[in-house]
Amino acid sequence: MGKKKQIIIENLEIKDAGAEGVSVGRHQDTVVFVPYAVPGDVVDVKAMKKRSYYHAQLMKIKVPSPHRVEPPCRHFGYCGGCKWQQMDYTTQLQYKQKQIVDSFIRIGKFPFPQLLPILASDNIYAYRNKIEYTFSPRRWVLEEEITQNETIDKRGLGFHIQGMFDRVLDIEKCHLHPDIGNKIRNTIKAYAIEHNLDFWDARDKTGFLRNLMMRFSTCGDLMLIVAFRTYNESAEKMMHFIHKQFPEINSLIYVVNEKDNDVITDLPVHLYAGKDHITEKMNDLQFKISPHAFFQTNPQQALKLYNTVKDFAQVQADELVYDLYTGTGTIALFVARDAKKVVGIEYIEPAVVDAFENAKNNNINNVDFIAGDIAKILNPAFVSTQGKPQIIISDPPRAGMHPDVITQILAIEPEKIVYVSCNPATQARDIAMLIHKYKVEKVQPVDMFPHTHHVENLVLLIKK
Ligand code: SAH
Repeated sequence: MGKKKQIIIENLEIKDAGAEGVSVGRHQDTVVFVPYAVPGDVVDVKAMKKRSYYHAQLMKIKVPSPHRVEPPCRHFGYCGGCKWQQMDYTTQLQYKQKQIVDSFIRIGKFPFPQLLPILASDNIYAYRNKIEYTFSPRRWVLEEEITQNETIDKRGLGFHIQGMFDRVLDIEKCHLHPDIGNKIRNTIKAYAIEHNLDFWDARDKTGFLRNLMMRFSTCGDLMLIVAFRTYNESAEKMMHFIHKQFPEINSLIYVVNEKDNDVITDLPVHLYAGKDHITEKMNDLQFKISPHAFFQTNPQQALKLYNTVKDFAQVQADELVYDLYTGTGTIALFVARDAKKVVGIEYIEPAVVDAFENAKNNNINNVDFIAGDIAKILNPAFVSTQGKPQIIISDPPRAGMHPDVITQILAIEPEKIVYVSCNPATQARDIAMLIHKYKVEKVQPVDMFPHTHHVENLVLLIKK
């Protein structure tokens, strides 16, 4: 298939680590994308010509980059989760920082000061507080297994293979979350196999074991949510087993997912044992995390992020703050004690319920949370009811802010905007729309996700 377009490129110099974590070289003026190569490598690749570039597969490392390290994970290269484990951490940080500079220059085209040095993650492994595994009777079988000439057990419990809804890569150890999670996953898989329980087949729609979701907190809480297709006697026995086997799971929950897709956030939860939530602490604040609620996935780095928001915003006691995309109100509560009042907006209603409860649990009374789509509810009527804010904090999802939201922000004209983003490209696009009225004062990248190309970025905009 398409063989004629495939070429071998020898001694390709890898120059950059670009978008989506894929490294980049150049062959006769054409860009070559090489996953898993490291800038500084000289490599041989098998390349397929696409429209204006090559997509290549790494065949041989001729000269390893000085930035290369041995990836600790045995699943590295098959699992899409970490793309940069083979790159030393300092180099990863450098490329994250560069991603922001590139986006601001290429997409934003606005002036900006030198970036503050990226805040590195203290833990570069076991930093994630949330992970989801999928059962499948059609796990991805590795080439080296096939040559062993034995019948292969294809039942697996792991991560989806990118672009294949019905296949998972069986995971024996993931380094991104606390190790107890590996013990739990492996024990449950062994139990399921020993008892011959049917793994959910997303293609044939058979079986009943679907997903495991784990949430950890730095206070030592551990939530496990098991998703079943049907809650039958075998499911009940398995829950009983998990409960007996792992006393450290202090919030044991199951859901019944009869849908074809794996999304469980729209399903009611059933508490099997323990608490119906976990608790996270940051500074002197405590946050309740419900099974479906959003919470930053690297809590240590989230603390640095929130402290930077606080530092950038410099909220004064007589000031009103809007916290757009407030989630469970974390940022709002972080700045509330300095402010006259904070108004958070968020469209997921259960998150708003959590936000109010978090405010109450922390004895914070000067906050209000409004449920709704920011693009629709942020308008002059909203501002006349809530008051005109001196500061707007905005933390949108990857898609960035809706143009209507930006129009409203421009109409409100707050003195300061603190823009928190997990996607420098949309952040650059949005700031470009604000730049005629605002100046980029400070830029602070934060690394929340070591070994991935993802980067969080904070920008302080000051009214001109
Ligand atoms: N600031 C929070 C949450 C950030 S995640 C924190 O640090 O924890 C972004 C949040 O924006 C999510 O909770 C999502 O539900 C919400 N969201 C996304 N689009 C929205 C919209 N159009 N209107 C309101 N909320 C939205």
